[in-house]
Amino acid sequence: MGRFLRVRPNEIGSHRRFRDMAQTLRSDPDSSYELPADVPDSEVRSVVARHGQHPLDLAARLMEEAEKKYLEGRRPLPGAGPGRWGFGWRRESVVELPVTVKDAVIDPIVLNTTPAVEDVTVTRDALEGLVKEISRNTGKPPWRLGVLAKLFDGLRSDEDVPVRKLLLKAGGIRLLNAPTGVGKSVLIGLLAIHLARAGVPVGIVAGRVDGATKTTEEINEDLEALGVALRCATLVSPRRLAEKAAQAADDGQWNRFDTFGYGCSLAASVVDGPQPVPKDEPCTILRSLVEPVDHKRRPALRHACPHLGVCDRHRGLRAGAAADIVVTNHHNLMHGTIPVPVLIDGTVLNRVSVQEFLLRKCAVLLIDEVDHMQSGMFDAGARQLMLAASGTAIDLPLVHLDAERIRLLPAEDRDVVPPLTRTRFLADQFLNYVLEGEMWLKDARPQANGKRRLADERGDSGWHLPGSRDALVLKHLFGIDDARAEPAPETVYEQFNALFPDSRGAQAPLLPEWLRGIADQLTLAVSNDSAQDQIREIRHRLHGLVAEQVEHEDDRREVVNVLLVRTWLGALHQALTRLTYAVAAPGAEMPAARVLAEQLGTVAQHQAIPYGPLGYLLFGFRVDRVDDPQPGGTLSVQALGGDPHTTIAQLGGTVALAAAGVERVVLGLSATVYFPGAAREHVRADITYSMTDADRGAFTTLAGEAQDEHSQTTIRIGGLSESGKTPAIRDLGARLWDQHLDAHLCYLAANDKDRELCMLVGNSYRHAALLAAGIVSRCADPGWVAVVVPRSGPPPLTVLPEKVVTLTIDELESLPRKHKNVKVCIAPLSLVARGLNILVPDDQRSALASVWVCVRPPTGITESAELFASVNAYALGSDEASVDPVGMWTMQRTRAFRRLFHILTSDPRFSRLSRELKAEAVAGMLVDMIQLAGRARRGGTSVELYLVDGAFHDPKHGTDIPGLLRYYIASLSPSQRRGLERVYGTTLTSWLDFAGIDKEI
Ligand code: SF4
Repeated sequence: MGRFLRVRPNEIGSHRRFRDMAQTLRSDPDSSYELPADVPDSEVRSVVARHGQHPLDLAARLMEEAEKKYLEGRRPLPGAGPGRWGFGWRRESVVELPVTVKDAVIDPIVLNTTPAVEDVTVTRDALEGLVKEISRNTGKPPWRLGVLAKLFDGLRSDEDVPVRKLLLKAGGIRLLNAPTGVGKSVLIGLLAIHLARAGVPVGIVAGRVDGATKTTEEINEDLEALGVALRCATLVSPRRLAEKAAQAADDGQWNRFDTFGYGCSLAASVVDGPQPVPKDEPCTILRSLVEPVDHKRRPALRHACPHLGVCDRHRGLRAGAAADIVVTNHHNLMHGTIPVPVLIDGTVLNRVSVQEFLLRKCAVLLIDEVDHMQSGMFDAGARQLMLAASGTAIDLPLVHLDAERIRLLPAEDRDVVPPLTRTRFLADQFLNYVLEGEMWLKDARPQANGKRRLADERGDSGWHLPGSRDALVLKHLFGIDDARAEPAPETVYEQFNALFPDSRGAQAPLLPEWLRGIADQLTLAVSNDSAQDQIREIRHRLHGLVAEQVEHEDDRREVVNVLLVRTWLGALHQALTRLTYAVAAPGAEMPAARVLAEQLGTVAQHQAIPYGPLGYLLFGFRVDRVDDPQPGGTLSVQALGGDPHTTIAQLGGTVALAAAGVERVVLGLSATVYFPGAAREHVRADITYSMTDADRGAFTTLAGEAQDEHSQTTIRIGGLSESGKTPAIRDLGARLWDQHLDAHLCYLAANDKDRELCMLVGNSYRHAALLAAGIVSRCADPGWVAVVVPRSGPPPLTVLPEKVVTLTIDELESLPRKHKNVKVCIAPLSLVARGLNILVPDDQRSALASVWVCVRPPTGITESAELFASVNAYALGSDEASVDPVGMWTMQRTRAFRRLFHILTSDPRFSRLSRELKAEAVAGMLVDMIQLAGRARRGGTSVELYLVDGAFHDPKHGTDIPGLLRYYIASLSPSQRRGLERVYGTTLTSWLDFAGIDKEI
């Protein structure tokens, strides 16, 4: 199975695509299969073989063919030889390579697959012995003994018995849940050293690059102290190296600078055009400037830089292949590739994924914050693509693709032309319509060419999913109230789908005449057969067709707009899917096709689990207006695919088998790995080891609301429009200082001087800056306040006094050391909830005494990543094994569509979500809060978590924390409740106490 999944093209993993292919095969008289004669088309579940061969022989032969083709597609790039080569979009930079590079050989990285290790057992005594040995050799106190003792004393197995040894088996994933600050990182480091000494190569996956490099440094110090010839190396994406080197130079950390810094020797050979940009050097994108004299008109193939095999930019990859312990970060494990050819077990392959690299190299993988890694996989941030632009000069991949078609053979081009021309028509025209105000994406018609609004100001990501406003159509055309708690009936669902050309199936139900009229107009809207812009006439006709059902003109305008937007984006979705498959064909060697496929997720042609139960990529669209140099805008798309839940649960099983041909031992650790209902974070595997937070008072949840001085009401932020939030957050900052923070900090100064620091969080950089503005308007010294600002891009618009400390998230950990005066640090919640250790200088204790959540975290269930996670989690259900895998798969697929429809037809306002969706949103919020509070729990310190936003406390709309907690607890099964109690102990009790819920849940 692993061999098959390794070479299977992604598209076969899509249900629709598989069905299309099967139908094509069926009509082929030379096909090896036929349909059973007496079964109707729609009910076929299996085919009849007519190839006359033994099935296993045939499978073996087909696998050989597929593997051959796979290897052909993974051949290393040829090295560039003497002569002129171009790089950049239009090859605008030119390098002249000397004759000395003639026949230069690019040495591959050598990597042999480590044999499988079925299980590993590590005893507490062995780890303690290791600590003592290190301490003896260095003369330093063995402080880790205390950490290990506390951790092992608290750990319980899945049978609730104390743990003296960790037993880890290959396949799937084992999970260890323990509170923040109890020594999981210490355990990871010692486990890795112990196993490496026993000859077992280990991979460690930290949350961020900084965490990965720090772990490597600490492990290497220990290895040196032990006097063993073992090495630990960090595997960082070459793109992040330049960034890390610059940061190390800024901090004066010259050893680190030496580790990360490199120079691009190709730069000296540039004879025309811009120099290579650090981070984006043209290591594998050189193209000959001499067009080949080839009657087949093949495109100029990409060539590799001749220095690729020896360049310092890639030395970390070689060090990783030679190391005994390899450390990387979440993002690199899931999305990284190795740009240098790799010689794997005797075969040289191009662009091996970091996942394959690690799973081949390491018999054991230790993943810190594994739930966060899973959650991050739902974010499609990195996969975005601009489809159309107006009024601004932007290089568009679709335009490049069109230009590059000239290089294709007619037989290849005929597959690309239909989806490409259709995608371009739909994208360009849709953007025109939005910019002209003919259609609009959100719930109010904007002014044509209105002022640009940044996503951060809008308070949402700006992404729009086809169908995300279906509730409005259902309400007006089908009489389904949008506030219902249950999904719409199946018959409505079928009729509704039959309205739109992209979702109208072959067995579409017969529609009543008025609905058929709507369906015809929608089909006409996206057909372009007349080669005329008819949108106004079509809209006029649609107004007439819905007039009877939608009485008010404003409602009618909205309903017609939603119908047109859904039709347009649905058609664009369909065309893009076809285009990505067409351009990913092996023969189509076009740079623009590669960009398109990379961004839309099909370039990783051989993912073990390319799709979840939904079976296709979800697309989100966004329009951004620009005013400079002239009014215009851009249309972008993002794609969400894969199945993060199953990928994580099967990392050591199916995924490892597909990547490396062997199962691996994988241990995932976190403080919130078990959280039923949290769609993004809950890992779908049993907890093997857990430690309950048993220290009473270690975690306290408290109300921290501030009163408006004039109205004497609680200041509420959640639920306000983004423009309304601006003055409210500033006011909240000022009142919070007067009513709570001033006294709180005075108390800390008198009682816990080392930890005279508190953290405030909002939902964005802008919220952080506004809170700071409010506080500095009241506090004695603006230098007491620090605000986190973006690494790049424009700073938030709020003007702050010069003395306010501004720093990036990368600098936050050094705050107590570098800015001793600061008493309040303010940051966006999403940046600081995980992995951040702000410690008392030269101490293991957290410098933070309290955390203040000033703005209720967003609960955007229709945001694309949230929706994707919810659909996947719900569809996978309880994940129990079944003797009928096809039946199980069909059921999961049905559940996926049911959930998708349920979310898309829900009113997105939190107060109006169904109980089910509310419970899910609350679970995700609780995970964030527990993690956030964990920042102040390093070294066993206690933490106070203050809920400041009035929205946490106002029961009017059913969005108050006590009410939401009741929803959530009521949504759990008895075993899930017991599981929560077992894992979270006093942390959970603190929440229940706050909510006034009986402890006996
Ligand atoms: S391999 Fe090295 S020298 Fe060549 S382009 Fe990349 S960074 Fe520059």
